[in-house]
Amino acid sequence: MLVILLGPPGSGKGTQARSLSEKLKIPHISTGDILRESIKLNTDLGRKASRFLEKGELVPDQVMLKIVEERLRKTDCENGFLLDGFPRTIAQTKDLDNVLKKISRDINLVVELEVRDNVVVERLLSRLICVGCDANFNLDSNPPKIKERCDSCGGKLEYRTDDSEEVIRRRLKVYHEQIEPIKDYYKKQGKLVVVNGEGKAEETLKQILEMIKKR
Ligand code: AMP
Repeated sequence: MLVILLGPPGSGKGTQARSLSEKLKIPHISTGDILRESIKLNTDLGRKASRFLEKGELVPDQVMLKIVEERLRKTDCENGFLLDGFPRTIAQTKDLDNVLKKISRDINLVVELEVRDNVVVERLLSRLICVGCDANFNLDSNPPKIKERCDSCGGKLEYRTDDSEEVIRRRLKVYHEQIEPIKDYYKKQGKLVVVNGEGKAEETLKQILEMIKKR
């Protein structure tokens, strides 16, 4: 099963992808996570990417495509994968199709999580991430049991550096500028489904799983 999750920052793509990955036993590939890990490790890619992430702008398509192509060729992707945060431009969308053709694969489903901008801003300003295991918490809707500590691994919880209001607004602007042609592209192929991402995470997951079942 090859599934793409689209949606603005803070729409719950990461949360849904983690649950789906567990249920469907396919890897969750988040380009944002790959970039953040490279920045942490101070690799060539990390040094190239960090200024884009700090500003909430997109890393150039050619850099992204290379990362994704390399990742999709790994053996754990043989039974499928979930893409979270890619494609983000129409060029990436078309390039992804070319890569998939080369490895004789095809996308089954593209899920767009719809969440209004003001809900996104509110959510992201109260989002905390575990530095140990990347689990997400929210001070309003899903607070940790112990202040600033992860329920799962006990790691320290921190705000993401690009979750400031200014950078969130910039990321949303970039998202809205790019998303329509991507949606049209997948709609024409009959692969796009839209799910309301403002409800409870378990409800959204249920809806996505039903749609996957139908494919
Ligand atoms: P995310 O974790 O998906 O919100 O991504 C965080 C940041 O990583 C984005 O604001 C971009 O700077 C960068 N990024 C992630 N995925 C992509 C992509 N497919 N194309 C370009 N930049 C990306």
